[in-house]
This record gives sequence, structure tokens and C-alpha cells, in this order.
Amino acid sequence: MSDVSGSELRALMARVPSVEKVMASAEFAALIVEYGRTQVLGAVRESLDRWRAGAQSGDASVSALDVAQLKSSVEAALRRRNESRLRSVFNLTGTVLHTNLGRALLPDEAVQAVMKALTQPANLEFDLGTGKRGDRDDLIDDLICELTGAEAATVVNNNAAAVLLTLSALASKKEVIVSRGELVEIGGAFRIPDIMSRAGAKLREIGTTNRTHLKDYEEAIGPQTALLMKVHASNYAISGFTKEVALDEIAPLAHTRGLAVAVDLGSGTLVDLSQWGLPRETTVRETVEAGADIVTFSGDKLLGGPQAGLIVGRRDLIAKIKKHPLKRALRVGKLTLAALEPVLQIYRAPERLTERLTTLRLLTRAAGDIRLAAERVQPALQHAVGERYAVTAEPMFSQIGSGALPVDVLPSYGLVVKTVDGKRGGRQLLALEKMLREMVRPVIGRIADDALRLDLRCLEAADEAQLVEQLKGVRA
Ligand SMILES: *Cc1c(COP(=O)(O)O)cnc(C)c1O
Repeated sequence: MSDVSGSELRALMARVPSVEKVMASAEFAALIVEYGRTQVLGAVRESLDRWRAGAQSGDASVSALDVAQLKSSVEAALRRRNESRLRSVFNLTGTVLHTNLGRALLPDEAVQAVMKALTQPANLEFDLGTGKRGDRDDLIDDLICELTGAEAATVVNNNAAAVLLTLSALASKKEVIVSRGELVEIGGAFRIPDIMSRAGAKLREIGTTNRTHLKDYEEAIGPQTALLMKVHASNYAISGFTKEVALDEIAPLAHTRGLAVAVDLGSGTLVDLSQWGLPRETTVRETVEAGADIVTFSGDKLLGGPQAGLIVGRRDLIAKIKKHPLKRALRVGKLTLAALEPVLQIYRAPERLTERLTTLRLLTRAAGDIRLAAERVQPALQHAVGERYAVTAEPMFSQIGSGALPVDVLPSYGLVVKTVDGKRGGRQLLALEKMLREMVRPVIGRIADDALRLDLRCLEAADEAQLVEQLKGVRA
């Protein structure tokens, strides 16, 4: 470094305000109130260090630093740091129960109940009748039994936990018979054979991938058998030359041999969805009535509640499950119970379900209604993406998601963005998708068939207004 630049540097450095002076300045007073002295001090030091390093390395963009400049850089850094990482997005993917976007959205009753549980003490494990210690399951097991026809119930963190706990409590060091056609992997590394070995149970596979018969179950039963298990295939289907044995055939076989049947239902709906034209799923009640001794299912799939795993079934088996040490490790918190109770309450008035239960309201939303939304949003999106793209409102199909068959079944409507020049526009569409994903409230769509597709099924009124507002603020 030459003498001249050395002296320039010294002059520049000499004009850098001291940390003390910066912290005491009027410009920084409000920042200190908002973020606290410790955080602001840390950010000021980082900013000054960065500036000094830039000056020393001869970075031409580094010029004299004043307090106002410093303030804007420190403020931006603090704002970035304090932004919530869990952000609201617009789910325009067309998948209603999108696991990566948080699955079921909860009705207002559940939101209010969670708020109360967060801010006020509650009888979580306190028996108000006797004044003694209570059991948190007591808060909702009656309600679950009423809605499913089961004798007893308990709740854990999610359905994977429900299956793990059930197998640990009922089949540790013993054999569990499962058809090869049901040894499935559900997204996010939930594999029946792995869960089985984690639980210390021995998997006894029977039949073939496409066909399993009652005699396969019969022949596999031995002195080591603890359970016969059926698993909902959830996200895959095989067709053609197939055979699976229905629960109402397996259950009598198990029971005459003194064994129990466990069913992992996955989604576990409480009502017959076909009454609204949705694909038919066996309900939890039907599964109990068909002879299942234990049924496990998720709280945040078709049930429409918070993340949870529900276990229902025979009283003696549920008691055994509740006594297992893993139950303590997998139990739900008060927020989950607070949210689950009002959701279950809504099922007591099935005639109003499609209006009150958010998940079902979205799943049953009429295509005509979604079409009107698409036509209303179209101009704002066209404005936002600019003239190089054409935005049209078009019919499309949504998916249920979360273990309902991964096929497009729900007639819907949405906005389709294509390049105007008729080229495939792979890179342009990716850039556009990124632009929408980086908005203040990110817009999540999907690219398919040389177009960016935004399914508006999950965009309800308040969100629609917010999306339009956000798009209007964009200059393409
Ligand atoms: C979704 C699913 C699970 C996992 O449930 P989580 O609530 O996500 O833990 C387990 N089994 C089946 C059959 C499923 O569909």
C-alpha cells in the first residue's frame, strides 16, 4: 500500500464515528427501543467491521461513513434478522392438504381455543371434579369415541408416532403379519418395515405385491404372532390382477386365534366423503365396526385438525398403549388438544361440516365459484407478469393430498401463465415462478405443460383480496 492511499485510508478511518457515539445518537434511539441495546450494539459493530474491512481492502465503493448511512444499514440488517422464518404463503398448488405447506387449515373455533390455551392456565391434567391430578386424554377421548364408535382412545404427536407406539406396546419382540402389498413408504421417510423394526417387532410379510389371500394370513399365524396389521396404501395404487383381503375377513380369523388386528388408516376420515362427490374413503367408524381392534390415523389430513396421531380401539389395548413409556415421549401438548377439541365438536353437526370445517369447505368448493375468483384475479396477475406472458383463466383439477390418491380428482379453476411468443419458455417460467415465490407473501404455484399454473381452489375471499393487492403492487 502506497503512502498516499495509506494516508487517505487513515483520514477515512478517522472520520468513522465511535461505537459509543453512534449508540448515543438521536438516530439510533428508536432502534434501541425497538430491538434492544444488545442486538443494536452487535449489529453496529458488524456494520463498522464490514466497513473497515472494505476500506482496508481498497474497495472503491467504500466512502466516508456517516451516522445516517450506518443507521439504514443497521436497520435493514436487524429487520432481516427479526423476520419470522415461518411465513404465510398462498397455496395455489392445487393440493389442498399439502404436507410441505402445513396440511389442514383450522377453523376459527380452533384458533380461539389455542389462543386461550396459550394465554390462560387450563385443566390440562387436573380433574376439576376431585381436585386431583387428571389425564390429558380425558379431555377428548369421549368425543373421539362418540365419533368413531370405539371403546377407548388416546392421542399422540402424529400418526407415525401412533403406529410406532402401537407396535411398541402390543408387538415388541413378537411378529406382526402384513401383506406385501401394504408395505408402503409414505412421504418423508415413514416406511412400515422401518417403523416395525424401530418398535422391536418382527415383520412377517405374506402374499405378493399384487395378491394376498386369507389363507396367507392363516398360514402365517404362529406362536410368535402378536398382531395382524393392515396399512392404507395412501399414496399409491396397483391395478389389474390384484387381491387384498378385506378387514371383515381378517378380523374374524384373528379373533378366533385370540389375536388382535391393527389398521393404519392414514387419513382417517370421520364421515363418508362420497356424499359430496369426493372419492370414497373407509371411515374410522366403519373400520372399527369391521372388527379392527386398533385404528391409527392423522389429525391434520382429512380430519381437518392439528397435527396429531389418534389411536382408537379396544379398551384393554388402549390401556396397554397408554402405559408404555413411549407414550410420555410422544404425547401431545395443550395447543394440540385445544385445537383438536373444537374440530371434533364440528363433526357433531355433520350437516354444517362443509361450511365450518375449512378442509372440507375447500375440498367441496364448486368449480364455478373458483372460476369467478380466477376471472377476478386475472387482470392483477396479467399486470404483474407483464406483456411477455399471457394469463388466462382455465379449468384444471386439484388434488386432495396427504395420502389420498395422488391423482387429480377435483374439478377446479385457475390461472395459466404462458409466454406470448409461443415458445416453451422453460427458463422464463422458472424465473417467473421464482418471482412469485419471493413476494412478501410468497405465491406457490406449479409448472406443468409449459405453463405456470395457479389453482385458486384454496384462495378464499380474504386471501383473494390480499393476493390482488400484492400483485397490483408489482411492476413487471
Ligand atoms: C400419512 C400416513 C402416515 C403418517 O402420518 P403422519 O401424521 O404424517 O405422521 C402413516 N400411515 C399412513 C397410512 C399414512 O397415510
